[in-house]
Amino acid sequence: MKHANLSFFVPHAGCPHRCSFCDQRAISGSVCSVTPQQVRSQCEKALEHWRTTSRRGEIAFFGGSFTAIPREQMLSLLEAAAPFVDGETVTGIRCSTRPDCISPDILALLRSYRVTAVELGVQSLDNRVLVENSRGHTAEDVRSASALIREFGLELGHQMMPGLPGDSPQEVMQTARGIALMKPQTVRIYPTLVLRGTQLAQWYAQGRYVPLSLEETVELGSRLLEFFEGQGIRVIRLGLHASGEVEENLLAGPYHPALRELCESRRLFYRMKAALQELPQGNWEVLVPQRQLSMAIGQKRQNIERLGELGYRVQIRVQESPGAADIQIRPAAG
Ligand code: SF4
Repeated sequence: MKHANLSFFVPHAGCPHRCSFCDQRAISGSVCSVTPQQVRSQCEKALEHWRTTSRRGEIAFFGGSFTAIPREQMLSLLEAAAPFVDGETVTGIRCSTRPDCISPDILALLRSYRVTAVELGVQSLDNRVLVENSRGHTAEDVRSASALIREFGLELGHQMMPGLPGDSPQEVMQTARGIALMKPQTVRIYPTLVLRGTQLAQWYAQGRYVPLSLEETVELGSRLLEFFEGQGIRVIRLGLHASGEVEENLLAGPYHPALRELCESRRLFYRMKAALQELPQGNWEVLVPQRQLSMAIGQKRQNIERLGELGYRVQIRVQESPGAADIQIRPAAG
């Protein structure tokens, strides 16, 4: 059965923080919050659609710090959504929030409204990076909130932002290892972008901040995918959703509408390289599952060319036995 999310954007108007990457003006003014009536009517439509197309999914409140918005607003949205959770077609409600906006009382309240998953905006576990980007919470806040969410039996999700000012690829991997120790079920990776109206935009204009290049991001993203999935943690997002709003406000940074595919492709390159390097240079056939074929070949046959530069002339084909798990290698015919 296919999985779907019905997502609502809930901006945090009046947020007291000034995170370097966040456009406060958009949050406080022009971006409208969803109303309970809209939640109800969109849930009704989604429920009908999911039932007729054999899907199941979750209702999600994203966009800011759901547990830090005015309490009446949070409750009115939860009251609108909760009756649609039937445990079959709609399996639960998920929300995202800041690590310092979690407490036992809040979690008890969320659970009473059928919230099943809480995602925390971790961004980095390096306190120096958190301070430099005015996050207003510490790595310790992330650890305490994560432990509480797990104690309450809720699914834990973490969101991280590689490429923040003060960060480095080594520190990003250190953050990833720290995240894995907290055992979230899911991770979202949002490489840092410079958006109009943010502190980052000013630093970028002053030459004080240089975002990651797309190539650096693909390299880092492929390592993060390999690491998290090796730890049994699902990466449910890598890169921002392609949207007109991001594209209109983007000043700089590693934005690509198919970033995940680029990272998956790089990850496959390293896997093929590691397997081939056990073998002598020459002509080889690499067999991959159907769903990985185009990513294994790479954009503009990049992976084939890079393997060729290492002395491995490869043909990449689909495995004959569907369902075979990993890549297989055999001598090329002829
Ligand atoms: S990202 Fe930071 S500044 Fe923006 S709403 Fe969230 S906490 Fe506030």
